[in-house]
Amino acid sequence: MTRSARSDRAYGKNRTHLVAGGAGFLGSHLIDRLLARGERVLCVDNFFTGRHSNLSHQIGNPQLEIIRHDVIHPIDLQADFIWNLACPASPPHYQHDPVFTMKTSVLGSINLLDLASRLGIPLFQASTSEVYGDPQVHPQTESYWGHVNPIGIRSCYDEGKRAAEALCLDFRRSRGTDVRVVRIFNTYGPRMHPDDGRVISNFIVQALQGRAITIYGDGQQSRSFCYVDDLVDGFLKVMDLDKAPESPINLGNPGEFTMLELAQQILALTGSSSKIEQRPLPKDDPSRRRPDISLARQHLGWEPKIALRDGLIKTIEYFKTCE
Ligand code: NAD
Ligand code: UDP
Repeated sequence: MTRSARSDRAYGKNRTHLVAGGAGFLGSHLIDRLLARGERVLCVDNFFTGRHSNLSHQIGNPQLEIIRHDVIHPIDLQADFIWNLACPASPPHYQHDPVFTMKTSVLGSINLLDLASRLGIPLFQASTSEVYGDPQVHPQTESYWGHVNPIGIRSCYDEGKRAAEALCLDFRRSRGTDVRVVRIFNTYGPRMHPDDGRVISNFIVQALQGRAITIYGDGQQSRSFCYVDDLVDGFLKVMDLDKAPESPINLGNPGEFTMLELAQQILALTGSSSKIEQRPLPKDDPSRRRPDISLARQHLGWEPKIALRDGLIKTIEYFKTCE
């Protein structure tokens, strides 16, 4: 794309953004930021895990239109940018109907890529650190091909997202489509679903309700947690680039914590006297995960600013309002 064509699409010019999965946790935060920039938004969602309440504060905003649609079916709308966030993200949600999860990633991506290609507009693909599976390289760089069980209980998500990345790159190579792929590492913050089964929501809700904190396995597995505002800053920087990056880009917070450390922080911050209880480790649960964010630093000038403790304090305040 030429520079002048790209700058016609500059933000603040009331362009239209199709946000697939916009009623979900990350999508609703992205929509808030786009609307705050004066953009128009078409939120496309089947409301499988998304909630109207995530966008209720925007109802009545003439710049936002909400369309109930399942991305496994083709869609034909006018837009200037496409953001593909449509896919359940928490393991219990994506394992609920694994065939549908795979269809969402593969057919959903094909349908949105077809639209981007027809309209000649950029498509942002929300990929995941799960493409690295249970990684044997640590921290994970984008050049690492991953270590994924192709037939396990997580593969509907991991392989679906890997197929979606392959489709993005094939559309670029065969049709010149402008694709921007980010690999998102565990992200948390307000509007996470209290029952989504992810570790941060589980631990905070358990601590606030004085129920046992459920640690799966010995609690020595690690994750890196990024606060949602930091992540969305990264999303916007990716779409703001004049030229699509060659490679997918990791977005995540490189701080790495074991689940036991996370439980202890949440107990301390909530002042809860919940006990810690061990539960069986789910199959294929990755043993460690930490992003190498050198590419994001280099291409986007991006790195997270919000420390886990500060993000947890804001997230705990949010979960208190859900009780
Ligand atoms: P979420 O479950 O809150 O949001 C997903 C949204 O997609 C929901 O609104 C859901 O209703 C919608 N959706 C699902 N299937 C759809 C379909 N077939 N058609 C239309 N809409 C559909 O999850 P999230 O945490 O906001 O994740 C958003 C995206 O980011 C997902 O693609 C996810 O894989 C990716 N991601 C998230 C994380 C994270 O830590 N939150 C990490 C890695 C990747
Ligand atoms: N986990 C846990 N207790 C819970 C929920 C999750 O110990 O109540 C663990 C889970 O086994 C995994 C880590 O926390 O090792 C992160 O889980 P999550 O589902 O949040 O994300 P993902 O596994 O997809 O990174």
